Amino acid sequence: MIYFDSAATTFQKPPAVEAAMVGALRTMSSPGRGGYPAAMAAADAAFDCRSELAELYGLNNPEQVVFTMNATHALNLAIKTLVPPGGRVVISGYEHNAVTRPLAALGATVMVADAPLFRPEAVVESFARLVDNNVDAVICSHVSNVFGFIQPVEAVAGLCRERGVPLIVDDAQAAGVLPLNMADLGAAFVAMPGHKGLYGPQGTGVLLCGEGIRPCTLLEGGTGSLSIRQEMPDFLPDRLEAGTHNMPGIAGLLAGVRYVRKRGLEAICRRERQLTQMAAAELQVLPGITVYAQPDLHAQTGVLSFTAKGWEVEALGRALAESGIAVRAGLHCAPLAHRSAGTLEGGTVRLSFSDFNTPEEVSRLRSVMGKILA
Ligand code: PMP
Repeated sequence: MIYFDSAATTFQKPPAVEAAMVGALRTMSSPGRGGYPAAMAAADAAFDCRSELAELYGLNNPEQVVFTMNATHALNLAIKTLVPPGGRVVISGYEHNAVTRPLAALGATVMVADAPLFRPEAVVESFARLVDNNVDAVICSHVSNVFGFIQPVEAVAGLCRERGVPLIVDDAQAAGVLPLNMADLGAAFVAMPGHKGLYGPQGTGVLLCGEGIRPCTLLEGGTGSLSIRQEMPDFLPDRLEAGTHNMPGIAGLLAGVRYVRKRGLEAICRRERQLTQMAAAELQVLPGITVYAQPDLHAQTGVLSFTAKGWEVEALGRALAESGIAVRAGLHCAPLAHRSAGTLEGGTVRLSFSDFNTPEEVSRLRSVMGKILA
């Protein structure tokens, strides 16, 4: 199988990830639950994983790194901390359902900072028009999961600091690809999956918490700390990590983050962009194809959407799957992004690359697409 669905989850993981997960099953119990070697091995892996992530995101304190089960879980924690029922929020026009559905559940008034695709300056202008100090939170994804559009989160963060509004960054599609310095950003929260560009396994996610924030809890239970109290601890990460940790997941995520840091974000991003550029060029020449890409990709990563005239995107996705190429077709859990880009009616076919894809795979896509369309 040729796998071009890394925006959903990365499928090819570095071999060290699998080895670390098997190692965890063999050697680790649960962190914070005892002083015996298996508990200590788990505590060390959890601490090392927090430390690596803190360094990657410019955080001083590894305890600000909270493990979650995915990005959705992390976003729910962030949103439900800052947005009261019926609150007011400004979000970008490229948010995922993991942002918009929790807001709908809260009955929040949502103002959308609309902007055309690949126009970062329009994103900033739009936020500047809508954000004032009556807003409970601003939410902005770093990269669109449908179009790979890089949104100007640093500029949006500057605006939020100026106007005293807490910011949540959804880094789901940027983690492991684009740098972000949480301390410079001054964001309240940055949420991400562990299982996409950080190459951890499914079932892992991370919430980075800004200093001085007291997050709400979605779950209450055992933490191995302050056991006599019936309230959750006030301190992080315990406050948000009730119950036994996903140690194979965290050990795998640690290996994934180490891979990313060793390889370097810049090298990974360069590779994924080269593949995007190549796919855009090769698909563009086929009859009836519309590719959503920028010629120089200055505001785009390794995610590329396209449509084909006369084809329903789901049918095209199925035809590609039958030829051994895995893509995602439809609305990609992000109807708002499709509305902003004008593709809501039919959706798109999405290609999303990882560090493990090759130019030969993109060439194969081109020849398979040529045959399908013929
Ligand atoms: N936000 C964005 C931008 C995403 O692309 C995704 C995953 N498609 C999510 C949030 C949710 O991530 P998870 O599946 O880890 O909950």
